[in-house]
Amino acid sequence: MGDTPQADPAREFVDFMRHRLLPAVAEAFGRPTPTPFISIIPDALMPESLGAEYSEVLFSTPVIERLYGEPPICRSINIRLTTAVEIASFLRGGSLLLEPEERARVLGYFRAQLSVLVHEAIHSLWPNSASTVRQHEAELSVPGTRALYEGFTEAATREHLDDILLHCGAASVDANLLTCEAIDYEIYPGILEATQTLVDGVSRMAGGTAAEQYRLIVADRCGAEALSGLVARGLGETATPTAISRACADIHHDWSELWQAMAKFHVVSEEPRPLLNERRDTGRLAATRQLTAMQRLPQRSPAGLSL
Ligand SMILES: [Zn+2]
Repeated sequence: MGDTPQADPAREFVDFMRHRLLPAVAEAFGRPTPTPFISIIPDALMPESLGAEYSEVLFSTPVIERLYGEPPICRSINIRLTTAVEIASFLRGGSLLLEPEERARVLGYFRAQLSVLVHEAIHSLWPNSASTVRQHEAELSVPGTRALYEGFTEAATREHLDDILLHCGAASVDANLLTCEAIDYEIYPGILEATQTLVDGVSRMAGGTAAEQYRLIVADRCGAEALSGLVARGLGETATPTAISRACADIHHDWSELWQAMAKFHVVSEEPRPLLNERRDTGRLAATRQLTAMQRLPQRSPAGLSL
């Protein structure tokens, strides 16, 4: 026993992210495996969030360049220490030791935590160079774009989550992970429902599956380009560029208002249930209005009709 190395949960967690979760996420969306800088942050520095992703470009690019050479690694995935330790324990089979009732609750908790990791991993799929990171940050400062970015990312997470949990091996620790409900997982309420409703509607209009649409949305970085691509596919070949950009401008306008209304509740939230439900209804309504308007656009767009 004396020669057995001490378990290092932080190291186990980083290995899981690098060698299992990130490749599984990349494969689900047809992207190359990213190489973000994975950091484990003391809980006190990130008290509200299980995980977060941000660009390193503004404050530590020189350090990252020294550490990793070219091209610089300009994105990082940051996880609270508690989360990393708990995930490592789950992967070692810790939850299997629990009594059935407690185990069901704990699995729901891990499903929520793994969802956060998948969400942050999707953010890390691009871009890595300093100039593309700067461009991306500039795009996100346009009102409404961050709402799209987060909404599409979380909606894509939910659509592909089970496949990714299977592929990365987390589901083989305990298969009930796939059937349990995520506990206390209220992320981007309102914006999530808006993006899900829009993508489902466009999938029906375009005649494909939502999973396919999310692959295309993720390939387009979940932002403004992803929105115009989605709208173009929904409107079909008859739509003029003017019709597409008008529909996108309307969605941006609606969702930037929605985003401002719920921005401070964008992490795991302890909002009262009625308020969360109201936000969800508002999001669905905003997207349904857009879908109705889009369905009318092709009839209004033949040559000769100005939009
Ligand atoms: Zn996010």
